Amino acid sequence: MAEVYVPLLDATSIDFTNDDERAGVEKTITQAGITHIEDDRGDIRKIFGRLNKKTVPLNNGGDGPQRLTFDKVKTFGTMEEKKAAPSAEVQHTGRAHAVLSASSSHRWLNCTPAPQLEAQYPDSESDAAAEGTAAHELAEHKLRLLNGDESTLVGDSDWINEEMDSYTDDYVDNVMAELARAQESSPAAFLAIEQRLDFSHIVPDGFGTGDALIVGDGTMTVIDLKYGKGVEVSAVGNPQMRLYALGALAQFGMIYNVDRVRMVIFQPRLNNVSVDEISVDELTKWGREVVTPRAGLAINGEGELNAGEWCRFCRHAPQCPALAAQYLEPLPKESDEVTPAAPAPETLTDDQVANIVSWSGEIKKWLSKVEKFALDEANNGHSYPGLKLVEGRSVRRYTDEGKVAAAVEKTGHNPYEKKLLGITAMTKLLGKKQFQDVLGDLVHKPAGKPTLVPESDKRPALQAATPETVFQPLGGKNQ
Ligand code: SF4
Repeated sequence: MAEVYVPLLDATSIDFTNDDERAGVEKTITQAGITHIEDDRGDIRKIFGRLNKKTVPLNNGGDGPQRLTFDKVKTFGTMEEKKAAPSAEVQHTGRAHAVLSASSSHRWLNCTPAPQLEAQYPDSESDAAAEGTAAHELAEHKLRLLNGDESTLVGDSDWINEEMDSYTDDYVDNVMAELARAQESSPAAFLAIEQRLDFSHIVPDGFGTGDALIVGDGTMTVIDLKYGKGVEVSAVGNPQMRLYALGALAQFGMIYNVDRVRMVIFQPRLNNVSVDEISVDELTKWGREVVTPRAGLAINGEGELNAGEWCRFCRHAPQCPALAAQYLEPLPKESDEVTPAAPAPETLTDDQVANIVSWSGEIKKWLSKVEKFALDEANNGHSYPGLKLVEGRSVRRYTDEGKVAAAVEKTGHNPYEKKLLGITAMTKLLGKKQFQDVLGDLVHKPAGKPTLVPESDKRPALQAATPETVFQPLGGKNQ
């Protein structure tokens, strides 16, 4: 493979007479794996050894200058083979995860014992997570190709479909628009794809991978692709994005004059683009004053259990007493005991009804988790007081559908029913555009059934059907 020089640092914007900035360059050379420079004539030269106060040492094999003064260095960078080797084959499955990961930081910042409690359970990958991984691999692959890198997609492609192809195209467009935006104010701004970000100066062994990072003077941009569609994710105050930003600042902040960080969450399946900005001062203060003390407790499994919406994906949830207490708390009790009573709904107060309805979705999910956990354990031989494992109900099934059809046809009957494809299957058959052209006028979305949700829900409130809203007063004299 031909080697291509990839510039990473604009040397013309660095004050090498400043010891701190020069030390920052040294640090970045090590962390970003920088190996080469481009000189002011466009020649690419290999670096050899450490910088001194005025020059960059070069390895020219006895041919050409052995040192180059900083004013003759245009950029620092890498050769593509060296830079792309780990990521040219795009595969995210099997990546290491930190105990105090950025993606779980919302949880451990709120409930510091959670990471060590979760460590007892295997980290099994759900279908949604596998689909997300495939989407990230495809997105990375497309971004690399678009930016002139060679890239081979080696991940599990079973998840890739027309929908994912379209959504990852949207993500790539979004990233390139952010890059163009950054380059308007900082022409040397560059894009780093799937950048490992080390924030271990804030969180013990803390690191993560930023989907896309745009580094330049002024504002640094951190972009995260969220492929899930279960929960809309906001960038505002998002600790995962902030930790990525702190890692990016540690790596590039000494080189570029970064004073703000822009954090963008792109969640295409919910049509959600959420943006937050924070000054570097405020961000580093948050890291120092909020994160570091909580991380110190979390790494040792210390602190109080604290249940909240961050429990959603906690592996300890089915066993967690704090979560159980929170779920049972809104239910009315017959005595001081925690066992809830089940009074008739019409006997409850308005507050009790509101409280129970607000939590019912989470309670149902939690009950399902506990049931699944208990069943798994029972299947593995564990017994619970008052419970036993039995064979569940089952339904009759054909052993061989082909033989069934042939046997029925022999009787002169048609064993098949004719059924129209559903909207999702039909869209897949025709493709989005043809579906819209051919069937656009034949598809109707009826109003959804009224549903009670918390006031924080984004949907506008429906007007309840009362005699006042249903029957309009008649106009005129004789009403
Ligand atoms: S379920 Fe919630 S309260 Fe319990 S350990 Fe996990 S995050 Fe903490």
